[in-house]
Amino acid sequence: MSGKRKITVAYGDGIGPEIMQATLDILIAAGAQIETEVIEIGEKVFRKGISTGIAPESWESIKRTKVFLKAPITTPQGGGFKSLNVATRTTLGLFANVRPCRSFFPYVPTNHPLTDMVIIRENEEDLYAGIEHQQTNEVVQALKLISRPGSEKIIRYAFEYAKVYGRKKVTCMTKDNIMKQVDGLFHKIFDEVAREYPEIENDHIIIDIGSAIIADRPHSLDVVVTENLYGDIISDIAAQVTGSVGLGGSSNIGEEVAMFEAIHGSAPDISGLDIANPSGLINAACLMLVHINQQKVAESIKNAWLKTIEDGIHTSDIYNKDSLRKVWTQEFAREVILRLGQEPVRLRPVHYNEGDVMSKIKITKRPKANKELVGVDVFLDWDEEKRDPNKLGEILKTLSGSNLKLAIITNRGVKVYPDGHPETFCSDHWRCRFVDEKDGDKVTHDQILVLLSSIKELGLDFIKTENMYNFDGERGYSLAQGE
Ligand code: NAD
Repeated sequence: MSGKRKITVAYGDGIGPEIMQATLDILIAAGAQIETEVIEIGEKVFRKGISTGIAPESWESIKRTKVFLKAPITTPQGGGFKSLNVATRTTLGLFANVRPCRSFFPYVPTNHPLTDMVIIRENEEDLYAGIEHQQTNEVVQALKLISRPGSEKIIRYAFEYAKVYGRKKVTCMTKDNIMKQVDGLFHKIFDEVAREYPEIENDHIIIDIGSAIIADRPHSLDVVVTENLYGDIISDIAAQVTGSVGLGGSSNIGEEVAMFEAIHGSAPDISGLDIANPSGLINAACLMLVHINQQKVAESIKNAWLKTIEDGIHTSDIYNKDSLRKVWTQEFAREVILRLGQEPVRLRPVHYNEGDVMSKIKITKRPKANKELVGVDVFLDWDEEKRDPNKLGEILKTLSGSNLKLAIITNRGVKVYPDGHPETFCSDHWRCRFVDEKDGDKVTHDQILVLLSSIKELGLDFIKTENMYNFDGERGYSLAQGE
């Protein structure tokens, strides 16, 4: 048996086969210890009527090798075709999306020549769960779900990544000044995990100013770890400011399987012309080599690639007046191979440490907290002509039998009863908070059932309830604005 690591490879569509060939030639020349299993994905598979663009036997290969190097595919327009990326991510539990964003100035024009950051985005949770409901005529909601293990996994991944890639700082970005529970949890876990990595600096920035920093002085950032939606947005901003979106690779990492690909698409407009730039896939392949613990090979390819760019050997997409020579796709690969063993002089060379990032990803076992039910938020669809919160308050005060009392009413989060302001705009969506008559006492499910049935008796439409819990005595729900 050879000591080579099996990987699954897909040549994809459009320019995919050309850039994959160039990339594999470099990997082999550099001595990567890999053995490829080729699968078919994309257009041809879609045409066979498989809506995900990947056949069941191909899934088997990916699950067997656990490493997937993927060229871009063409997603046919319309016809119910699904994104292969989304299917792979959700099917295989790829929880981390990693996107290095580096400038290669002056070879690639950018206003931010010193940018060299990595965005590590949580891939499975957050608003992307897609749990959405229309609850009233006027109001729809989406659930934002953040879990402790999900957050811990991605945050640990970010710190382990920093260690192996020789990075100095990990910055967490959230909006926990507003979302104190969900983003607060992510930030709290970040602080807990960061304490285990004293050799790596850490800080936290609110996502809005964080995005502004990425756009304005990205060189001040190193590794950024964040939730799914924020990560989706800032990874595009970060890639754009480097000016080199076309050169970027990315990875999607799971506990078992990982997928590596270029950021760009299948570029059908230049397919078959041998002019595509293979750099995005080459950079993705370097991420793959580090993932499978072949750091030295990754380092030699990356440094040879940097030297090629620095020597002015450019494919037509980045060719400019200062370039030395315009080369074809496969010719570019040969030039990289010629430079294996060399380091760039003007561009900073890379250095990777030994270490297996994934083996350190663990979830801390915690004792179950003592969970106490202390109240309930009942949401109503109530559309009286004047929408007067005081009137709703008076109606709800007449409820009896449950020993629960109305504490406040809010409308889209703003307190409107008691002592609301007539200026506050009210929609038809009301959150009515009930607590025990004797403040601070525990509440039971039976009390809530009695409350709901008396609300029903009044002819009011309750559209959902949220129980309010304390965990080990700590409040597990947010207070309303003005509460
Ligand atoms: P694209 O990235 O394929 O192309 C945008 C432009 O950039 C084109 O002008 C193209 O010629 C150029 N370009 C892209 N990669 C290049 C390279 N390596 N070298 C030189 N020039 C390059 O984006 P698009 O045109 O919006 O999408 C084309 C197809 O790719 C669509 O079917 C889309 O669904 C698919 N796509 C796939 C992936 C993926 O598989 N991960 C990602 C994005 C888009």
